[in-house]
Amino acid sequence: MLTIFWKYIKKHPYVYGITTFFALLSSILTIVPNYLIQKIIDEMVNHSLTTQNLSQLLWFFFSAILLIYLVDVTWVLLLFSQSYKYQSSLRTNLYKRLLQLRTPFYERFRSGDLMTRMTSDIEFLGDTIGYGFMLIVSNITWALSIFMIMFVTISWQASLLSVLPLFFFAWSVFKLWQKVDTLYEENRDAVANLSNEVLEVVDGVRVMRAYGKKEMEQMHFQTKTTTVLEKANNLMFYSGAVGQVAKIFTGLSTAIGLTFSGYLIGQGQMTVGQLISFQIYLGMLSGSIWGLSDIVLVYQQGNVSFRKVEEILTAEDGVKRNGFDELDSFEAITFSDYSFTYPNNTLPTLEKINLQLKKGETLGVVGPTGSGKTTFIRQLLRQYPLATQGKLQINQKDIQCYKVNDLEKRIGYVPQEHILFSRDVAHNIRFGKTFATQAEILEAIQTADFTKDLEQMPDGLATLIGEKGVAISGGQKQRIAIARAFIRQPELLILDDSLSAVDAKTEQTIITNIQKMRQNQTTIIVTHRLSAVAKAHKVIVMEHGQITEMGTPTELLAKKGWYYQQYLNQQLEENVDANL
Ligand code: ADP
Repeated sequence: MLTIFWKYIKKHPYVYGITTFFALLSSILTIVPNYLIQKIIDEMVNHSLTTQNLSQLLWFFFSAILLIYLVDVTWVLLLFSQSYKYQSSLRTNLYKRLLQLRTPFYERFRSGDLMTRMTSDIEFLGDTIGYGFMLIVSNITWALSIFMIMFVTISWQASLLSVLPLFFFAWSVFKLWQKVDTLYEENRDAVANLSNEVLEVVDGVRVMRAYGKKEMEQMHFQTKTTTVLEKANNLMFYSGAVGQVAKIFTGLSTAIGLTFSGYLIGQGQMTVGQLISFQIYLGMLSGSIWGLSDIVLVYQQGNVSFRKVEEILTAEDGVKRNGFDELDSFEAITFSDYSFTYPNNTLPTLEKINLQLKKGETLGVVGPTGSGKTTFIRQLLRQYPLATQGKLQINQKDIQCYKVNDLEKRIGYVPQEHILFSRDVAHNIRFGKTFATQAEILEAIQTADFTKDLEQMPDGLATLIGEKGVAISGGQKQRIAIARAFIRQPELLILDDSLSAVDAKTEQTIITNIQKMRQNQTTIIVTHRLSAVAKAHKVIVMEHGQITEMGTPTELLAKKGWYYQQYLNQQLEENVDANL
């Protein structure tokens, strides 16, 4: 951490240079009022203090205090505004990194933990480079200046004796420091864990109520809160101990200094003014040592937060993005003997997939739940590292040769779990095409069969949806998600079971609309309802990660396999529904 901070400090020489210079100036100026007090006392004791003398000294005294105040305000403001700039740029970098990282990374880190890293960890790092730097610079310059002035203008013997206990203090702080590091990390992780819990509770509160699990979840939450409390108490105990140790040693230092000064006065080697000054200096020295002890906590917090933020900045997801070729269009997508195993699994989820999809074709993907349909289409999205066995080619070239951005730009993907943002309908759809016109939005809405629903909405396209807006049904959400993907006019549109919450008739309307509008473009439809792929050019049936049937819907019916059986079942269900 220190090396990185040092690099940052060197990158901003003016800010940190001026800060250090002003801190030094303030430390030197701090000595002036004290010196003036010493002078006034000594002149009073010697009966040489005149009114003119006194008013002159007092004028200097107040001017010095005002100057110290102005110098301090300037450098502290400069330092803290730089610390906020640091936080803001670090947060932006972290955010950029989060946007780049793919699914395997998000499977390793929980949302609450990532939130803690984005918020409090970054704040602690800002504190370290701002408040921490201030503590070091001001207290060290202050302590050194005070010691020097005590050493030179009062008594070198008394000064040396009184700083002796401070070396023991440094040693004790070092010992406590090591303990606090582990405790601080435990405390921070417990807080991150609690944030996760809160996020899950907020998401799942309805399910919890429905299953009458409120009390049980409350107890679970209580356990986590108690853990945080225990960890925080532990941390407080040890970090508080640093303050107590500081108190003991600074007290010892003052006692030694004052006893020895008393002896020096007895010997006629110190004046009363010097004794009072010495006492004030010792008080200041203790203050700066106290300040330095605060660094223990700031440093530890910063260090742990630094590790947490670095972990994200340097995290890998295993997805290679070193392709340089530009992708102009999806002329052909070819899977050859392609087998894929998830990074954390041992057995393959896809086995020996062989398939070719040409531009303009619609592919239907059907099969039982868990058979590998989503895994299959995720290969095109480059969400996971690619398989080491077999090939996945686009236009006869390995998919890894292409820029990932090019691939992403040309694909419109509607996942099973539709994600909508707490903004208005238009904004959610424009997410697919930033500068889409009103006409384009309305066309996408028409294709997604959402026009009638929109008419019912209080503010039309400007209706706020999501957490703070109007509540909409699962089917409506799915259709907005479809409109969002459709508005991109992507070369490859992938619907991953994304119409499961709408009725069969609406699904049929949407599929017909899409096929009409996407005559020469490629579409992949993953579905449970065979009627959705009845007009597809090609349909594959996936079972246990393998393609067990492939052909046109008519060919598959003739094969009398899984597709045919499923067709009969769904026909039966439809007839039952119609008779009800
Ligand atoms: P489908 O879409 O046909 O329902 P999936 O492709 O979602 O099937 O899942 C196929 C298999 O892959 C399942 O057994 C599932 O447990 C496994 N699987 C899915 N996602 C992951 C993952 N991220 N890590 C490990 N295994 C996974």
